[in-house]
Amino acid sequence: MATKSSVLVTGASTGIGATYADRFARRGHDLVLVARDKARMDDLADRLHREYGVAIDVLPADLTAPDQARAVETRLRHDDRIGILVNNAGANVSGSFVEQATDDVERLVTLNTTSLVRLASAVAPRFAKAGEGAIVNIGSVVGLVPEFGMSVYGATKAFVLFLSQGLSYELSSKGVYVQAVLPAATRTEIWSRSGADPASLPPMMEVGDLVDAALAGFDRREPVTIPPLHDVEQWDAFQAARQAMIPGFAQVQPAPRYAPAA
Ligand code: NAP
Repeated sequence: MATKSSVLVTGASTGIGATYADRFARRGHDLVLVARDKARMDDLADRLHREYGVAIDVLPADLTAPDQARAVETRLRHDDRIGILVNNAGANVSGSFVEQATDDVERLVTLNTTSLVRLASAVAPRFAKAGEGAIVNIGSVVGLVPEFGMSVYGATKAFVLFLSQGLSYELSSKGVYVQAVLPAATRTEIWSRSGADPASLPPMMEVGDLVDAALAGFDRREPVTIPPLHDVEQWDAFQAARQAMIPGFAQVQPAPRYAPAA
C-alpha cells in the first residue's frame, strides 16, 4: 500500500467524486477527500477505511472561498505522497442565462474553472519535477454542445477540456498524465442541487458505470475519455477537423470573404 500514491479527490462527499474515492480505495490508494460537507466525508472515510484498510484524510473546504482553497493548494504543493489529483468538484445553476443571478454565475465559474486550474497549478510543478503523477479533470459533454443552452456551465466545461488537452500537450513529455473525462447525464445529486425540473430529466448513466469507464480510460492513459460516446471515430474526426485548420491560421492576409466592400 505504501508504494501506491495517495489520491486527492475534490467533490468527494457524494456523486462522481465519492465513487472515485471508492474505486481508488479499492485499488489500495490512500486518499485525501475534499468538499464542504465534513460529516458525509467522515462517513465515507470510515466505510472505505473499514472495507479497504487505506488511510484517509478529510480536508473540508469550500473551493470558492479563497482562504479555504489555498489550504488545499498548499497540501497539493507540499505533500509528496499525493500522486493523483482528481479535479471533480463542480456545480451547475438552473435557468437560462438571463434568469441566472450574476453572483451565481460568478460562483459557478469560480468553482468549475478557477479552483480547478489553481489546484492543477499547485501540483503540476511538483509532478513535473518528480517525472510522474496524474491530473484527472472532470469536464462534461455539455462543453461541446452550445446548443444545449447551458451556456455558462458548458463554457466552464469547454475550459476544462481545453486546459486538459493543453496540459497533456505540455506535461506528457515530463511524465505527467493529464486526463479529461467528459460524462453526459449521470445519476447524482447535481440535478436536484441545481434546481432541475425532475420531470425534464434526461436518461442517465449510473455513476458507478461512469467512473469505472473513466478509470478504464485512465489505465489506458487516454487524454480524453468520453464514457457515453460509443462511436470513438466521431471524436477522432472532430480532432482531425480541428487540427486541419491549424496551418490555415498562419496567414498574414485576411480571408478574401472579409475584403472591404468596393
Ligand atoms: P454532485 O453529486 O452534485 O457532487 C458535487 C460535489 O462537489 C459534491 O461532493 C459537493 O460537495 C462538491 N462541491 C460542490 N460545491 C463545492 C464547493 N464550493 N467547494 C467544494 N466542493 C464542492 O455532482 P456530480 O454529478 O458528482 O458532479 C461531479 C462533477 O462531474 C462536476 O464537475 C460536474 O460538473 C461533472 N459532471 C456531472 C454530470 C452529471 O450528470 N452528474 C455530467 C457531466 C459532468 P459539498 O456539497 O459537500 O461541498
